[in-house]
Amino acid sequence: MNVADTEIVISLLQDSGYSHCSKMEEADILLINTCSIRENAEQRVWGRLDIFRREKRNRPGALVGVIGCMAERLKERLLEREKMIDLVVGPDAYRQLPRLIEEAGTGQKGVNVLLSQEETYADITPVRLSKNGVSAFIAIMRGCNNLCSYCVVPYTRGEERSRDPRSIVAEAEDLAARGFREITLLGQNVDSYSYSSGSRKVDFSTLLEMVAKVDRGVRIRFSTNHPKDISEKLLQTMAGHPNICRHIHLPLQSGSSRILSLMKRSYTREAYIGKVKLIRRLLPDCAISTDIITGFCTESDSDHTETLTLMEWAGFDFAYMFAYSERPGTYAAGNLPDDVPETVKKRRLREIIELQGDLSLRSKRALMGSCVEVLVEGVSKRSQNHLFGRNSYNQVVVFPSAGESPGDYLNVTIEGYTSATLTGRRTGTANSTGSQ
Ligand code: SAH
Ligand code: SF4
Repeated sequence: MNVADTEIVISLLQDSGYSHCSKMEEADILLINTCSIRENAEQRVWGRLDIFRREKRNRPGALVGVIGCMAERLKERLLEREKMIDLVVGPDAYRQLPRLIEEAGTGQKGVNVLLSQEETYADITPVRLSKNGVSAFIAIMRGCNNLCSYCVVPYTRGEERSRDPRSIVAEAEDLAARGFREITLLGQNVDSYSYSSGSRKVDFSTLLEMVAKVDRGVRIRFSTNHPKDISEKLLQTMAGHPNICRHIHLPLQSGSSRILSLMKRSYTREAYIGKVKLIRRLLPDCAISTDIITGFCTESDSDHTETLTLMEWAGFDFAYMFAYSERPGTYAAGNLPDDVPETVKKRRLREIIELQGDLSLRSKRALMGSCVEVLVEGVSKRSQNHLFGRNSYNQVVVFPSAGESPGDYLNVTIEGYTSATLTGRRTGTANSTGSQ
């Protein structure tokens, strides 16, 4: 989401006559787009600001700006703590950046952290940062209304709003015309996408179908689904369109119904299991990945075991796993004790990561000998003679190069795997996108 926002910011600044440069030493304005989701994300930003401070000491004329979620969360406190910061701009105020930069150039501090109920940047064509020219993001909505008790997003990114579907389809058409071959639709909870114009209401399934029909040779991904909202209609839409990738990211967070209730996730362990069964029934050939938070307030060893058993049962293909990080201003920070000791959080996280390591290997092993369609993204980091790309399940596949180019679809027979990648051999050219 931050990459997508950065692309919007660059577009807005280019329209005002600025240009994006790749080296910090050459820049007149240093902007850092920030994330507040966990304490360590913010720590990394403070570390980067130390580097900016050194740079500014050498070039006092350069402007430094903090944009995004940390700007929204800390507001003027950022300016107090870090005197060299000239700009603090929240996620809904990027249109004001050119004006604020001008103000900052005259020595005033440029601050705008107002959240909006309407801003979707629908009319801005993002400047694509993707180096390979193959995959691009389209943000279909902003903000979130779910108020999960641990999460800072509703406070830093504001209320949920959905973008006009016509602007989304137009952006997808433009990407297809420029040779992009993969589009990922982004939202904090794509299942609650909803746009009304006159008597017509467009929900996420309808939007997904509209985007999938733009070009059959462009494959479509989306993230993130919410277990409480993912619908049969969405799964049927996926089943009806081979160019919609067979991958669903369905964050579990915890396998214990008691913890899920404290997290205000609005589903139980059983309901989550029901959603996985529904996916398996309607889309038997679909990867499922997840997010897990370990060590949430009051989590006991038996709650933790419930997470492990559910992971094992679901056999997730991939997972992002985190230790709980209390975020100021959230419901949990004000009302629930962050009482799982750091050492216990770390141990549980290790156990979860270890189990997921096995599950991810199992998911790759299951593909041995089968043929998958791969969209080539570029040259492998490890070897100049190999290319890499992804299959429909979002797994990285590495194979010997025979002169193919980024953007080509190939059939690859899987012959091996490591913890991070599948390896294989090319067995043909795919015409467009298939469902493997
Ligand atoms: N909207 C998405 C997730 C956005 S944040 C959803 O609801 O699934 C991405 C992930 O960060 C979350 O799924 C959660 O696993 C993790 N996360 C969010 N807040 C966190 C916190 N306070 N501590 C640890 N992990 C957190
Ligand atoms: Fe945060 Fe929950 Fe919204 Fe995801 S759905 S962004 S976890 S509040």
